[in-house]
Amino acid sequence: MSANCGERGDKTNMAMPYCRFCGQNLVHTFVDLGMSPLCESFLTMEQLNQMEPFYPLRVYVCEHCFLVQLQEYVRPENIFTEYAYFSSYSDSWLQHAKTYTERIVERFYLGPHSQVVELASNDGYLLQYFVQKGILSLGVEPAANVARVAMEKGIPTVVKFFGVKTAQELSRERYQADLLLGNNVLAQVPDLNDFVAGMKLLLKPEGVITMEFPHLMRLIEENQFDTIYHEHFSYFSFSTVERVFAAHGLMLFDVEELPTHGGSLRIYARHAEDTSKSVSQRVVELKSREDAAGFNCLEYYFSFAEKVKETKRRLLDFLIKAKREGKSIAGYGAPGKGNTLLNYCGIRTDFIDYTVDRNPYKHGRYTPGTHIPIYDPDRISETRPDYIFILPWNLKTEIMKQLAYVRDWGAQFVVPIPEVMVYS
Ligand SMILES: [Zn+2]
Repeated sequence: MSANCGERGDKTNMAMPYCRFCGQNLVHTFVDLGMSPLCESFLTMEQLNQMEPFYPLRVYVCEHCFLVQLQEYVRPENIFTEYAYFSSYSDSWLQHAKTYTERIVERFYLGPHSQVVELASNDGYLLQYFVQKGILSLGVEPAANVARVAMEKGIPTVVKFFGVKTAQELSRERYQADLLLGNNVLAQVPDLNDFVAGMKLLLKPEGVITMEFPHLMRLIEENQFDTIYHEHFSYFSFSTVERVFAAHGLMLFDVEELPTHGGSLRIYARHAEDTSKSVSQRVVELKSREDAAGFNCLEYYFSFAEKVKETKRRLLDFLIKAKREGKSIAGYGAPGKGNTLLNYCGIRTDFIDYTVDRNPYKHGRYTPGTHIPIYDPDRISETRPDYIFILPWNLKTEIMKQLAYVRDWGAQFVVPIPEVMVYS
């Protein structure tokens, strides 16, 4: 499986693309979103006058294993070593982590005798709950700045990318995981086989792996094309991720469907040879649902691109009409996914005057590629726009509640995904 892994180097961009799981050439496009800058590279005013790197956002589907994937245009070292995203900034994500900890500890009888390892442990947002229970915990996190925050909280963390090499080093230091987990990391791993092979090495004979990642089924059915960005290399159905794990001697024995990130899966894996945990009905049911939808047929994947183009046309129709009527439009939020949408649709300050965000790091900066200024949310009540364009559509209910006051001057909300909708 990993025959290609050693020979990449700088040739990646020029070579015929190949599947990061099965190694076959990629010839089928799932969707082509044109050229885009890295979605987290918000610009300062000085940077507006400089060149800005853009990379293709062309997503392929492998005709052999159906892995939907982006090529590795940018080395992860350039994306993840200094990361602007601190998981602990989100209250709902912290609550998610806490609930997970309670349930998993109870279900698999974890205690002070257990060892938990989290891959891409960020600022310790999750492991802190295991540490509080006296469970031996270790984080593996490549971004030094967020790892430092975790260590300051007393969470042991090694600053490394995870794969076979790191797993061997940790095993030599006698780390073996009863629980090995990773949230929103599997999709962001360029060398998928090396990563999963590393997990196989680090897992105790009766240990459990849990991983969370956005579900491709939700992406396709709910038209979430803006969740595609360069940092996000793979887009998994359950059936495909099961094949990937099976190739490395790991078996998926349970799955949960979660509402996070527009719809995610939490998979549970064990060693193939560990017969102490049987495969749940939920696994059987989800596989048959994916099969019925067409996830094991190449043709199914071809319908998505046209749907995306039509969404762009409808959104631009709305914006052009609103501007012709003399309306003002302000954005709300500056999430990574907003940048894919703005760049793909060509939405700049000709449509949206500015956007606002609660993260002070982004204030005074500009959205990558489209150069829309980002302000503090107070700007909305100062300028009283006619429309508020909600970029993090997955939080639309929460945001419309927070911004209830804009109705005082008759403003309406615009939500772009799954297709443009206006709320009064
Ligand atoms: Zn493949």
